[in-house]
Amino acid sequence: MITGITKEIIRERVQNAGIVGAGGAGFPTYVKFNSEAEIFLVNGAECEPLLKVDQQLAEKNAIELIKGLQYGMIATGAKEGIIALKAKYKTAIETLTPLLPHDIRIHILDDVYPAGDEVITIWMATGRRVPPAALPLSVGVVVNNVQTLINVSHAVENEAPVIDKTLTINGMVKTPITVTVPIGTTYRQVLEMAGGATIPNPAFLNGGPMMGVLFHDLDEPIKKTTGALLVLPDDHLLIRRRTQNMNSVVAMARTVCEQCCLCTELCPRHLIGHELPPHLIVRAVNYQKADQTECSTILSALTCSECGICEAYACPVEISPMRLNQALKAQFRAEGAKYTGELRPLNPMAEYRMLPISRLITRIDLDRMNHKAPMINIDWMPSKVVLPLLQHIGAPAKPVVAVGDRVTRGQLIAAMDAGKLGVPLHASISGIIQNIDDHNIVIAQE
Ligand code: SF4
Ligand code: SF4
Repeated sequence: MITGITKEIIRERVQNAGIVGAGGAGFPTYVKFNSEAEIFLVNGAECEPLLKVDQQLAEKNAIELIKGLQYGMIATGAKEGIIALKAKYKTAIETLTPLLPHDIRIHILDDVYPAGDEVITIWMATGRRVPPAALPLSVGVVVNNVQTLINVSHAVENEAPVIDKTLTINGMVKTPITVTVPIGTTYRQVLEMAGGATIPNPAFLNGGPMMGVLFHDLDEPIKKTTGALLVLPDDHLLIRRRTQNMNSVVAMARTVCEQCCLCTELCPRHLIGHELPPHLIVRAVNYQKADQTECSTILSALTCSECGICEAYACPVEISPMRLNQALKAQFRAEGAKYTGELRPLNPMAEYRMLPISRLITRIDLDRMNHKAPMINIDWMPSKVVLPLLQHIGAPAKPVVAVGDRVTRGQLIAAMDAGKLGVPLHASISGIIQNIDDHNIVIAQE
């Protein structure tokens, strides 16, 4: 049991450390810590194939993870802590189990996708269902992932800011690895650590194969939210899907949708009682009725998690309801439209229709790329880092240093205006401030 520290100190240190959700969204963690909750849930599902970060961190940093969770429970007043992991993360479970205090338990998740979608994780681990377009807090739950809570532990105990990032480099690379590097290191540098690509036509994803973002510039910096660098052949079906232009997506939907409903029958959000019916949204687009924003069915596109099941697994004729939803979401958000539908009954088949990971991996042709990517320790610092001022949801941080200043690793280099959503930024290497513009601060070693 942790004593002698107040929720106010925890909240302040988490905010000062610049912690954001390390799983990809980049939501400032202090905002979650400033709320009141009943359950604090650690999302350790890591259900995207090929990603191997949280499952290894949970094992190697078990004590920090539990402490981070305890600090989260103190800050939010949560009486119960749950660490949700898959049974296959056996060593992590064995390491954590003897360390658990009475108010924290491990929940074993089914090995399905998308068990890591926090709405689905909450349902699986607590039985509570988050209504569509609502936050987990609406059902009394706060969720953080493993790496985020380890960062919390360091921040509260040592006032250590977030300056490093652990990520997996996997797929068609010589030596798949999971490694921790200073934020601002380039993708090119971590690809070299993994021995480089093994194919002549590599395509690069930042994040998992289902929800990661295709990018082309290996000299982009690794951020607080980067989860992985995946290398796939550029003619892989997941890459072809991402490069398909929108006109072609719409044309495909119009010409070949047979309204078989499989996309809806396998949509995880729909299964747990959200309205979201992808087949009806496709139909609305096909009949040019997607601008009827008074229609709840069409507006429910706003509640799509973009998990990709409808596109990559369900649809037998290669239509992408998800891409249509993405386009509709952008349009509705620009118009300020909101979805207000209520939670419906749970589909009695929900538990049985969640997609086994093994089946997903085979269907999307990832068997040959799903390597273990063991965690390695390196004693290395880049000679230069580029640190984006916006690595989180909110406003960019404002530089508090000038070109030519000498800074040390961990020093504050950009801060937030009081009252604005966002987190401060710290130097990830020691060196001289080489450049500052509206988007980045560049530090180079002397
Ligand atoms: S699964 Fe494909 S064909 Fe079937 S309704 Fe959905 S989009 Fe149409
Ligand atoms: S991407 Fe498709 S399957 Fe996933 S939540 Fe959206 S509509 Fe449902």
